[in-house]
Amino acid sequence: MKNAQLVSVIFLLILPVSCKPDKPFIEPPKDIVTKKKLDFYTEVQYGNMPLIISVPHGGTDNPSSISDRTCPNITTVTDSRTIELANAIDSVCKADYAIQPYLVISYLKRTKLDQNREINEATCSNSSIASIWNNYHLSIDSFITKILLKYPQALFVDLHGHGHTKQRLELGYLVSGSELRNPSSILPSSTSYYNMLLQNPFLSKNQFLTTPNAFGTLMANKNFPCVPSAQDPAPLLSDPYFDGGYNTQRYTSSVYPKVYGWQIESNFIGVRDNQTSRVNFAKAFLQSIMEFYSRNTSMQPSTFGK
Ligand SMILES: [Zn+2]
Repeated sequence: MKNAQLVSVIFLLILPVSCKPDKPFIEPPKDIVTKKKLDFYTEVQYGNMPLIISVPHGGTDNPSSISDRTCPNITTVTDSRTIELANAIDSVCKADYAIQPYLVISYLKRTKLDQNREINEATCSNSSIASIWNNYHLSIDSFITKILLKYPQALFVDLHGHGHTKQRLELGYLVSGSELRNPSSILPSSTSYYNMLLQNPFLSKNQFLTTPNAFGTLMANKNFPCVPSAQDPAPLLSDPYFDGGYNTQRYTSSVYPKVYGWQIESNFIGVRDNQTSRVNFAKAFLQSIMEFYSRNTSMQPSTFGK
């Protein structure tokens, strides 16, 4: 009898514990509210709005400990001052809107690593820097997950700089110059905004290229000319034009069905050339992004960060 009573007491003591969930609750890692280096060359920042800005080609770090890329047919040009441009956007966002974008920045020179290529071309098969490539791309991946816990969609912008003569932003939606000149030939499923069309089936397939609500049109309205936009729908046949690269393809693909975005190839004069230009650009960029959300999505910027 005594033993039976003892067993009952033990059972009652154990019962509340055994009612707890099988898995212990794991506290999520604390958000990185300031920029943080994941390795010597990869810097990230958690945001509190549905925007990720990736800066793969602005790095100037040139360590002799990492060999130069030597695989064939590669591009190694640095997109100068694009890190400073992203930082200007971040600073203006914090100052004017009291919110901040997610940032992923590479400080390593493109002669060493190209963070806008798949890993073999990115590293030229140098396995010693594969972890740096992974830190960059796993960050974007985890930031997308993080955003989608709170917001229905995520916007991805891959920020670059071009050296073309015409001083305008070249927006890359994975639509070629030839297709922009012949819009009826555009295949929506191959664009970087296809995920958005799927979520909003009533939108026209050119909604994000040349309508009044396209990002390019909104920027051009603020004196930052863009192609494509309502003001400048397509590059001329003779114009060099970047239509988007690996990162834009990867992070707006069907693997990430709630992400859409575009590549920005920024001109130098009036955008990247000095801090005044960069701050002016940042203000226009953020105003246009907020207008873009309000006009094209169910997400209202006034709720961001709340
Ligand atoms: Zn670039």
